[in-house]
Amino acid sequence: MRRRAAQGVPSCRHPVQGVGLLQDGLAIVEVHDRYSEVAGDQGTLGHEGTGGRGFVRLVLLRIEGLLLLVLLVLIDEEFEAEGAIRLSPSSEARVGVFGGSGFYSLLDDARELDLDTPYGKPSAPVTVGTVEGRPVAFIPRHGVHHEFPPHVVPYRANVWAMKEIGVERVVGPCAVGSLQPQVKPGHFVVCDQLVDRTTGRASTFYDGPETTHISFADPYCPTMRDVAVEQARAMDLPVHDKGTVVVIQGPRFSTRAESRSFGVQDWEVINMTQAPEAVLARELELCYANISVVTDYDVGVVGETEAVTHEEVIKVFQDNLGHLRTLLFGMVANLPDERDCPCVTALATARFEA
Ligand SMILES: [Zn+2]
Repeated sequence: MRRRAAQGVPSCRHPVQGVGLLQDGLAIVEVHDRYSEVAGDQGTLGHEGTGGRGFVRLVLLRIEGLLLLVLLVLIDEEFEAEGAIRLSPSSEARVGVFGGSGFYSLLDDARELDLDTPYGKPSAPVTVGTVEGRPVAFIPRHGVHHEFPPHVVPYRANVWAMKEIGVERVVGPCAVGSLQPQVKPGHFVVCDQLVDRTTGRASTFYDGPETTHISFADPYCPTMRDVAVEQARAMDLPVHDKGTVVVIQGPRFSTRAESRSFGVQDWEVINMTQAPEAVLARELELCYANISVVTDYDVGVVGETEAVTHEEVIKVFQDNLGHLRTLLFGMVANLPDERDCPCVTALATARFEA
């Protein structure tokens, strides 16, 4: 019996789809192991060269092997029928944050989950801790030692890992450069639009055979954005309640000409990680919101501004990390329990049926 997976993944057996792949993989390994045991015994019997008793034992072993196969097939059908379980085998946390130890180092009860996904390992083990009474999962998108620059972050593994442990809402804070004079270093921007200028990144979970065109007109969850803006205002933080982020490939920064061209489009901020992170979340029907921390003016904004250095970006981001952590934790506390936003049913009209 086969029915469509409830969330995110077609029920077909595409090799890159589904946690079921891992379960299948484990099962296959077990079959091989058991078969090699049988084969080993068979060899021993052959070596002994005994007659009827050895033959009976061989037959019994083969029957045992067959029964095992039948059992494995039945177990597999069970997983096949429960598509949703394959994507959400546990509910460790319902809110996820793509942020590093700067966020969770102060939590008392943090523990690590070492996960694997059909897309490889996430940037780091997932850390789960309790924030305002709610379990929250953290993945440092650049790795524990910042070893993944923006163009090689395992975005698909990171988003998949969140989904797999039961996360429904993800916050993706990031450092950004400002493209507009009024968006100043130290400001927060809760983006509502995104322009993807990245190239060559694995940016979808759906490589066929079932064609999936996700709606991305409004890339960020409206509910999460509202909660983020309210929280920032309650904290008296300088916050912009909307803005467009242009995502460049990196890892280099922009030329002055590139930066100016982004600015004249009236885009507010520039970053290297919002794509494909945001769209991958949407593809798994996760809510996703961004909180941008402005670390500097990009080179094209202010006529004679100095070109940005990595050290400057890190310094402003560190200076604002405390505010960002308080803002995030406040958000977590104020998110409604149930989701009634469009993100929840993103796949309902996304499938192209031939
Ligand atoms: Zn949503």
